[in-house]
Amino acid sequence: MMLTDSKSQSWLIIISTLFLMLFTNVAFFKGVVGVYPFVLENIAFLISVFILFYCLTAIILSLFCYRYTIKPVLIIILLLSSFTAYFMDSYSSIIDETMIENILQTNMQEAIDLFSIKQVLYVFFLGVLPSLFIYKTTITKTSLLRATISKIKLIGVLTMISVAILWLFSDYYFSFFREHRSLRYYINPVYYMMSISKYATRSYRHPELPLQKIATDAEISSGDDDRELIIFVIGETARADHFSLNGYKKKTNPLLEKLNIINFTNVSSCGTSTAHSVPCMFSIYTRDNYDKNKIKNTENILDILQKVGVNVLWLDNNSSSKGVADRVPYQDFRTAENNPLCDIECRDEGMLVNLQDYIDSHPTGDIFIALHQMGNHGPAYYKRYPKAFEKFTPTCKTNQFESCSKQQISNAYDNAIIYTDYFLSKVIELLKNNSNKFESALFYASDHGESLGENGLYLHGLPYMMAPDAQKKIPFILWFSESFDADDINMHLLKSKVNTPLSHDNIFHTLLGLFEVNTHVYEKTLDLTEYKNSPHNSNTDDNR
Ligand SMILES: [Zn+2]
Repeated sequence: MMLTDSKSQSWLIIISTLFLMLFTNVAFFKGVVGVYPFVLENIAFLISVFILFYCLTAIILSLFCYRYTIKPVLIIILLLSSFTAYFMDSYSSIIDETMIENILQTNMQEAIDLFSIKQVLYVFFLGVLPSLFIYKTTITKTSLLRATISKIKLIGVLTMISVAILWLFSDYYFSFFREHRSLRYYINPVYYMMSISKYATRSYRHPELPLQKIATDAEISSGDDDRELIIFVIGETARADHFSLNGYKKKTNPLLEKLNIINFTNVSSCGTSTAHSVPCMFSIYTRDNYDKNKIKNTENILDILQKVGVNVLWLDNNSSSKGVADRVPYQDFRTAENNPLCDIECRDEGMLVNLQDYIDSHPTGDIFIALHQMGNHGPAYYKRYPKAFEKFTPTCKTNQFESCSKQQISNAYDNAIIYTDYFLSKVIELLKNNSNKFESALFYASDHGESLGENGLYLHGLPYMMAPDAQKKIPFILWFSESFDADDINMHLLKSKVNTPLSHDNIFHTLLGLFEVNTHVYEKTLDLTEYKNSPHNSNTDDNR
């Protein structure tokens, strides 16, 4: 019997927690030292932070670790924590509920984009190696009673130490928890464990509900004889201040600048991630009353347009429509089967190739086409454009931002914007070609922005309240054909709003206005064109 070599459960928890605190919490402790610098008067407190979060982590792990669960639980935590540490250290990303949703919706291509040698090293040294150690360790066999007693002892001691620390440094911790709440996002593994459990409870509590119908009275205004053709381009990860239309010093909009577009300069996104923003953009819910489950289970603008007889089509060169196009015709353009323009990846322009045929094959009714771009999806910006669009050099040709200069990262990102500029000009060309038969219009709005290294932040997805403008301010562009009836659209009014603070909230009602859909859910104040034929207009005016 090799009993002397076997270890107790408590020992394994203590040693694993120490490993997690020392090696997977660099981002957290960096954040703490950023707020409480390493000076003499703070040292005792800084040590206490380490011990306190050590104790809390060990207590939480103790609750999940028993005779038969301890090894799988610790191995899963170590592996997940190594991934989390990699993303926090490399991109300052945090693993909150939205991020869990993003991860679950991530497809193979996006995962490959994020893959790197550094990630492998993180996972190997911080995940796999310690996991092997846990796996090889023999755990002392004890009776259930003895195991329970030692578990209670361990939790008791850890709790007493935590309480003592909170009491001794109560002044510090009061401000720590109140004023620096965002630091908690970086506690590994506690924060992602909380996020997973929140996500799981929410999904469990909100099973599939029947679809909530809205705007049941909707119908196209009887006076609308013209056919509307509106193409809505949903941008990806484009930030407003990298459009030269908005004053960016590099010429990223060489083609759009020459076209008669209306560019809105002060527009905010609904969220900071695709999974949050895209459903919100097309929903009747505004950012202030955003509710993920309600949005998912309520008809959106595409449903309403389809109900009133508009031909609706969604083409997707991104991950998916995030549920928006579940009830309308949908086609995936990330495969060479549908997209004729694929090289290292399928290009946004491929979505336009057969669009004229689609338009020609619908001889009656209005048409609404949504094009969901790959756009500026990171971190591999250099893959987002064909070679001919590499205007700014040198570019960052890796997803390892630390091995690139800020300028290289920004060059690759800006080249992808140039490709979007080209793509949008092609959409406008297509709309122009159809303007003899249609009142045609382009809508372009990005889903959210992107951090490009400002204050050490990269990518997007930070909680809205702590996210910088780089992640929240989006480009928003409209274009109308000359055939668009001047009686319906007050261009002067529209142009007077180019610098007004606007948001994704305006999309739903502006689309109702442009298609001249009359319904009681229409809100004129959110419609940029303030469509004047709506019978619901006068109600709004009367009620003032
Ligand atoms: Zn996105």
